[in-house]
Amino acid sequence: MRLSVPAPEDFGVEMVGVPEGAAIELDLRLEAVLEGVLVTGTATVPLEGECARCLDPIASSFEADFQELFVYPDTRSGGNAEDDELRLEDDLIDLEPVLRDAVLLALPLSPLCRDDCPGLCAECGARLADDPDHHHDVVDPRWAALQDLAGEPSPEPPEGGRGDSGPRGSVDQQGKQEG
Ligand SMILES: [Zn+2]
Ligand SMILES: [Zn+2]
Repeated sequence: MRLSVPAPEDFGVEMVGVPEGAAIELDLRLEAVLEGVLVTGTATVPLEGECARCLDPIASSFEADFQELFVYPDTRSGGNAEDDELRLEDDLIDLEPVLRDAVLLALPLSPLCRDDCPGLCAECGARLADDPDHHHDVVDPRWAALQDLAGEPSPEPPEGGRGDSGPRGSVDQQGKQEG
């Protein structure tokens, strides 16, 4: 049995989710069992989100399998009944909580626009996918010279690149006095 239902609101996780009202395609199999109806199915849901690395919009689709037993309202399932047992109400089943569990648990927490997405430049936020050769020189020599003129070490010297600057500042003042 196939049907299509509109996605409820808030159907997603932080980075990715199903747009509200988008069509969720369900492929369902219902089996009557002793206690109720066993629902086995596959949900195909459209996804929209942002790449966790480069923040590009992602549009894809996603399949989630689920299986859930809906018990008849008048069934007493004995001592081992679970509190969150799903029940048939007026011969209807409410698939939304089942779908929500199945889809949300299976959603990628860090979706990527593509598996090898290079992400963004940590320095300036440029998209590395657009500019594979993008890089920053660690210290531009001209800026290094200006830093020396300022007479103060920069608060966070970049790693490497200034190994031989040597001691600066107080060059033996006393030796220069003429007498
Ligand atoms: Zn990306
Ligand atoms: Zn950059």
